[in-house]
Amino acid sequence: IIDAGQPDRVVKTTCAYCGVGCSFDAELKGNDVVRMTPSAEGGANEGHSCVKGRFAWGYATHSDRVLHPMVREHIDDPWRQVSWEEAIQFAAARFRAIQDEHGREAIGGVSSSRCTNEEVYVVQKMVRAAFRNNNIDTCARVCHSPTGYGLKQTFGTSAGTQDFKSVAHADVILVIGANPTDAHPVFAARMKRRLRQGAKLVVIDPRRIDLVRSPHIQAAHHLQLRPGTNVAVINALAHVIVTEGLVNDTFVGERCDAVSFTQWRDFIAQPEHSPEATEAHSGVPAAEVRAAARLYAGAGNAAIYYGLGVTEHSQGSTMVLGIANLAMAAGQIGRDGTGVNPLRGQNNVQGSCDMGSFPHELPGYRHISDNAVRGRFEEAWHTTLDHEPGMRIPNMLSAAVAGAFRGMFVQGEDIAQSDPNTIHVTDALRAMDCVVVQDLFLNETAKYAHVFLPGTAFLEKDGTFTNAERRINRVRPVSPSRTGMSEWEVVCRLSTAMGYPMGYDNASQIMDEIAALTPTFAGVSFSHLDQVGSVQWPCTTDTPLGTRVMHEQAFVRGKGRFLVTQYVPTDERSTRKFPLLLTTGRVLTQYNVGTATRRTPNTMWHDEDVLEMHPHDAEVRGVSSGDGVLLSSRKGAITLHARVTDRVPEGIVYTTFHHPEAAANVVTTEFSDWATNCPEYKVTAVEVRPVD
Ligand code: SF4
Repeated sequence: IIDAGQPDRVVKTTCAYCGVGCSFDAELKGNDVVRMTPSAEGGANEGHSCVKGRFAWGYATHSDRVLHPMVREHIDDPWRQVSWEEAIQFAAARFRAIQDEHGREAIGGVSSSRCTNEEVYVVQKMVRAAFRNNNIDTCARVCHSPTGYGLKQTFGTSAGTQDFKSVAHADVILVIGANPTDAHPVFAARMKRRLRQGAKLVVIDPRRIDLVRSPHIQAAHHLQLRPGTNVAVINALAHVIVTEGLVNDTFVGERCDAVSFTQWRDFIAQPEHSPEATEAHSGVPAAEVRAAARLYAGAGNAAIYYGLGVTEHSQGSTMVLGIANLAMAAGQIGRDGTGVNPLRGQNNVQGSCDMGSFPHELPGYRHISDNAVRGRFEEAWHTTLDHEPGMRIPNMLSAAVAGAFRGMFVQGEDIAQSDPNTIHVTDALRAMDCVVVQDLFLNETAKYAHVFLPGTAFLEKDGTFTNAERRINRVRPVSPSRTGMSEWEVVCRLSTAMGYPMGYDNASQIMDEIAALTPTFAGVSFSHLDQVGSVQWPCTTDTPLGTRVMHEQAFVRGKGRFLVTQYVPTDERSTRKFPLLLTTGRVLTQYNVGTATRRTPNTMWHDEDVLEMHPHDAEVRGVSSGDGVLLSSRKGAITLHARVTDRVPEGIVYTTFHHPEAAANVVTTEFSDWATNCPEYKVTAVEVRPVD
């Protein structure tokens, strides 16, 4: 850390890493950032930060950044630096040619949860209005799309129910498939504070994460389930609540749909869902499940926080439904200290979903087939819109391999590295006639691109991010765009070149349009945010300061709806050839595929992905800590170093996915969530053997 002395000026902005959404004061001398200081006024962080937000912003000025547009005829050709105009006309001409030859469904777009709400909004608008189809999807497809589905079905809206401060009122905290210490550190600090004050903790996770046992914190119960058995365990918890008379009858009677509750209760009360019946496949002792269920249902206030260990499964959506069922049955929702809270990974996962990045939904989670809603957008956008949902990312990629889908606009997302079954993804990208990548760096996806449009780092952006608690934070330009263009401006110019004129004077105008068309954002504007700091949607003229806790008097959909959650084992099973199960996660000092954090000094703090193995599994394979190992699955193989530890139980191995050298997604499978196609990253049958 260099003592940079007093800054010339300070600009308030928001961290662009995780879904906590910490506010920072960017301290500048001239145009150079000299320090990022967490803001005491930040609604999400109140003066706290983690190591990434405070120190890992150097990537914004890294010499690897590409600052000029580039094109090439073929992906084997060298890149040619061109003007913005030439790059945009090149991309538009290729996209138009594809549509002329293969139909308007033959191209689509992917928006990024790393970008601002305003940038995401214009991408989905370009796809719907200029591409004239609904082939728009978001990288949230591969993380929290089951949250979108599950919470909409049960509660009526696709968002976490509480603000972060609410955890201070929880008596019991249930953490499912999440590792907040590493992935959401500033929120984890709030949670730990509450745990040190005496709140009880239940962790459901195959791995012994730090929270299970850390200084002054000891989980009351660690349900160390086998990967892929989440739904069996959540059903077993619910079975105990139903059969031991722990249902909150008053809450269910007043707040929930009676018919759906009766159907669900009769289903969940079946003996096959009992903890004793499910113990054999989940591996969780029945007594532990019974004790955890009693603790949760009997608490004054009990809150659930969950992560990608819930969603990235073939039954990810079922599990989200199961969590919602549990909270409603126990009456643990609708007040401080309770609720169902997805811990979003990327900084703007919530926002990119809110902005209409799904192929079936317009901004505000309204279905594209709803004539009244679609009509409102058609009127505002002066165009007609397709009423049929478009393709999701996996459908686009499969159609590309089959030859029917031939062009893709990829905003700030490295699908060649972050999506599952890498070989399939790269085959699809290679098969396309036009891949346009808008990013800071020549990432793995750009290897298959024909057009590269340089993006802006968060320090150059003007707009908003929405964090995991629905908080809309301002992102202010700390320094001028190093490319000379805003990302939304580039998208508008591409849209115009494609035949649908789009243009705004500034990002604030885009937010005004979002607010005019999206009821939950009706009270949001840059000037309002500048005045009050941040707001949590719904923010309307009636609730100008936003909404801390949702579903207080009634659920958004009216009555809460229970849904039956049948446990179906994943098709990915361990076999004699692949006897171990691999699951994945993150470390504190790196972020996702490391595009940003590997370009900061953080690299030195975690310089490789390693494979955690239980001592017994290591011993029978002749592996010691530090040894090189080959990790292989049906899909591929990678090499990495082993770390022998009892953090993972026998039969389970674990790694992170921050470095392209290890490329964990080479081994992950084609299986995905039945409702949303979210990939099953968390269960892969593998074998491990030592290599030199
Ligand atoms: Fe940034 Fe998340 Fe760390 Fe906050 S907790 S500083 S948002 S990475």
